[in-house]
Amino acid sequence: MRFIKAIVCHVSATRENQSYPVEQLTQDHIARGFKTIGYHFYIRRDGTIHKGRPLELIGSHVQGHNKSTIGICWEGGLGKDAKPRDTRTEEQKKSILYVLEEILHEVKESQAISAIEIKGHRDYSPDKDGDGVIEKHEWLKDCPCIDVKTEYGKIFEDLKKKIQ
Ligand SMILES: [Zn+2]
Repeated sequence: MRFIKAIVCHVSATRENQSYPVEQLTQDHIARGFKTIGYHFYIRRDGTIHKGRPLELIGSHVQGHNKSTIGICWEGGLGKDAKPRDTRTEEQKKSILYVLEEILHEVKESQAISAIEIKGHRDYSPDKDGDGVIEKHEWLKDCPCIDVKTEYGKIFEDLKKKIQ
């Protein structure tokens, strides 16, 4: 297993009234020049979990940070008006927790998990004004349309303690 620094969350940028099956996602990623789906997990609105790349393989989901991260993506992220929105369903929320736990269990086999972080794609935007905080005006894109630290920071710390 490669060394993992963070799990990075994404949305598929699909409107909440539209559907984006894993086959379509995979095809779109191949069309962008990836070998296959760029994420390690994809979670549909109904909570269905699809495995993308095996965790030991480097993904294609966050420029410059793929080597040491694992990418998970959930279907949605846009309202009907195509504006960024938290569209996570209850089923997705459950599946996201399940996936995080699965990842930690697997990574734990080869490294300490205490330092692993959970981040959103947008947290990797450049800190243009150099104040140490990635602010809204600096986001390259909204992905994953929620503040991952607020939503999952505490949950993730508790999960690591439980699994460790
Ligand atoms: Zn993303």
